[in-house]
Amino acid sequence: MQRILQPGEIEALDHTHFPRIRLPQPQSLFAERAARLLQLAEGNPIADYLRLMARLVQAQQKAAATVQTAPLEAETLARSQAHSMPLMPAADHLDPVWREVLTALLDAIQPLPEVPPALCEALAALRQHSPEAQDALALRVLGGDLQPGDISTAPFVAAALQVVFADRASRLSAGAVPYTDPASICPVCAAPPVTSVLRIGGTAAGHRYLHCGVCCTEWHMVRVKCSHCESTEGIRYQGVDGAKPVVQAETCTQCHTYRKLVNQEKDPLAEPLADDLGTLLLDLLMGETEFDRASANPLLALA
Ligand SMILES: [Zn+2]
Ligand SMILES: [Zn+2]
Repeated sequence: MQRILQPGEIEALDHTHFPRIRLPQPQSLFAERAARLLQLAEGNPIADYLRLMARLVQAQQKAAATVQTAPLEAETLARSQAHSMPLMPAADHLDPVWREVLTALLDAIQPLPEVPPALCEALAALRQHSPEAQDALALRVLGGDLQPGDISTAPFVAAALQVVFADRASRLSAGAVPYTDPASICPVCAAPPVTSVLRIGGTAAGHRYLHCGVCCTEWHMVRVKCSHCESTEGIRYQGVDGAKPVVQAETCTQCHTYRKLVNQEKDPLAEPLADDLGTLLLDLLMGETEFDRASANPLLALA
């Protein structure tokens, strides 16, 4: 007797099938990121910073367990899909709950002995901001147009936004995420990727994904393309001499930018955001080349 295969079974038979979209699983994502930051801190020139960020990511994990975000309205979903637009551009979909998450993160971080006094003061001031001022800061963080006074607190704001947007993204179905143009911004929240990551394990193995800095969604892009301008010409890789090439800068002679490629085939524990932060030396080296960094790391605000 013949049996009709269900869609999932057909995909299982097709070994060329791999996920186009990897939606975040916030609990494991933040747990793995915090563990990796602590691992990378060993012997790292910015060990203290990496350890502080590990604490922040641990606080994100805790907040992610209880955060109650608003579901994306069906109408917005349908409209975005119809126009091949990102589902919820972050700046237009600021869920007020983000401010509660910020307070929870500050509660966890502010009392820590490793927080320098100047940062402690800045965090205390951030806590006293009006909701409107906090939202305005969130929009500057998302838009990448920070004012000098925003620099020290921006990573904490970005961390709160990540918890909220990762939660909202985790409640989507991957099939509902449209193909968008350009393919170099997140199809869920329209933010730029932090890095790209070559994945191992499961059906994603051997495929390159761009990792969103805001909602933590990953979307597939073939390796021969520049993750910034989508050119297929002039792509090269640069690493730090002598270092295991877990992280390399992928450079493009068309748009003169670089973005790091984090390679799990070289280290299975490599994590897109943590490994970017742990390889600042590579950014310093790239600063002496013609290539500019394509996009920032949300946990590292620079003037
Ligand atoms: Zn995103
Ligand atoms: Zn390019």
